[in-house]
Amino acid sequence: MRKSTSSGLSKSLILKGLQCPRALWLTRNPPEFDFPPQPERDAKFRAGTEVGQLAQQLFPGGIEVPYEGLTVPAQLARTRELIDQGAPVIYEASFSFSAIFVKVDILVRDGDSWQIHEVKMGTSVKDVNLDYVAVQHYVLTGCGLSISRSFLVHIDNSYLRQGEIDVQQLFHSEEISAKVAARQQGMPEIVNHLRETLRENNEPRNSIGPWCNDPYECDFIPWCWRHIPEQSIFDLSGRGIDKFALYRRGILHYDEIPLDELNTKQRQQVEALLNHEDSVNLSGLEDFLAELWYPLCHLDFETFSAPIPPFDDTRPYQQIPFQFSIHRQSVAGGCAEHFEFLAAPHVDPRRELAEQLLAAIPADACVLTYNQAFEKRVLTDLAELFPDLAAELTRRIENIRDLMVPFRRRDVYRWQMNGSYSIKKVLPALVPDLSYAGMTVADGNAAMAAYHEMCSLEVGEVLEKLRTDLLAYCRMDTLAMVRILEELQRLAAEEKAAGEG
Ligand code: SF4
Repeated sequence: MRKSTSSGLSKSLILKGLQCPRALWLTRNPPEFDFPPQPERDAKFRAGTEVGQLAQQLFPGGIEVPYEGLTVPAQLARTRELIDQGAPVIYEASFSFSAIFVKVDILVRDGDSWQIHEVKMGTSVKDVNLDYVAVQHYVLTGCGLSISRSFLVHIDNSYLRQGEIDVQQLFHSEEISAKVAARQQGMPEIVNHLRETLRENNEPRNSIGPWCNDPYECDFIPWCWRHIPEQSIFDLSGRGIDKFALYRRGILHYDEIPLDELNTKQRQQVEALLNHEDSVNLSGLEDFLAELWYPLCHLDFETFSAPIPPFDDTRPYQQIPFQFSIHRQSVAGGCAEHFEFLAAPHVDPRRELAEQLLAAIPADACVLTYNQAFEKRVLTDLAELFPDLAAELTRRIENIRDLMVPFRRRDVYRWQMNGSYSIKKVLPALVPDLSYAGMTVADGNAAMAAYHEMCSLEVGEVLEKLRTDLLAYCRMDTLAMVRILEELQRLAAEEKAAGEG
């Protein structure tokens, strides 16, 4: 691999460098490594672009300096031209100073000065946003512009959509001028440091640390963390231990961990894995099973969320259900009848979903979920939205029980669970013949991405394939619950017989 000789900086490079110098260097000099695809990252990027374009309506009548189709010098020249022509508002205005290239989402003329309005699709101002606007301020000032005020424009998640999107309510604009000014003094030093990093011949050897996921999940985790084994200190569950402090002390594998530094659950996790030990607390398990009754419906939802509310009566980032799977059993161990719903793209799915759900779950049925807070939240939102269905939906909410409980309490623990009580860890430990392996859609994020992709298609084979994959995934979630419950019932009977024998 030839090292890049350019020491120019751009927005993405600056953000990378502020998070970790090694990430900056690696972005410019990517290693020859098979990085896994990141469809969710691409979807997030598209959503960010959509949010940025919508925010332009806060200052209508501006002129855009596009990135696509124009070289960097052409973008700089076009920006200068618009400034000289007296344009009051410029979108994506482009500047370069000291070999740092920045684009400003919305630049607004303010007398002889200018206002910076930087748009983010988050719901609050973060330090990294302030750092980036501070760089913009530094560059624009270096180009001879006077900056009067700086703003961070972000999503206001209290906004409730009714009809057309109201951009004044969807966005919240927060003035950050003082915080940006306070960062100006250290700016030349920061920029020099970033540039020095780029000039280094070899990859910086910064250690991995909490910054690998803060403020963003770093793209280079698969590369920098490749020496971390499958089971390591980073799998320890719960709080109260500084994993990176252990790492810095050279402790990585379970058999190196000083057990007296762990809490009770962490110690159980480590000892169980090292000794391949399983455990069952029969009375806790029996208490849980005694709370269930039949008919019993295993229920799972898939939801999506978006910064721009897609339908009336939705808020930014609200979890909107688009799919459910239900396996209904009349008696313990009985045949499980399957019901499913998957919304057509582009329509508000909630009314039809709620009606079909009520038809599939009898009012007196026990409703079993995995992590009940999520399903309760979704059903509560539906009850608030449809007053005529509220009483029926509330009855289902009251009947919810949580299959995660015996695992969270560790009434049933298998060493393969390695401290986790996620269904993705519990299923292979309890029911090894059933697996998500090989499924095209194999987790909730992938399901959300598949639904978003479905919504970008009209008809055709790809859409049908996505539908099939989504139905298979959600069905698998509730089938997994059926099999896990059966295994719990079998375990309880076995333990009880052993105790009596
Ligand atoms: S994975 Fe961590 S150490 Fe590696 S570049 Fe990213 S932030 Fe830096």
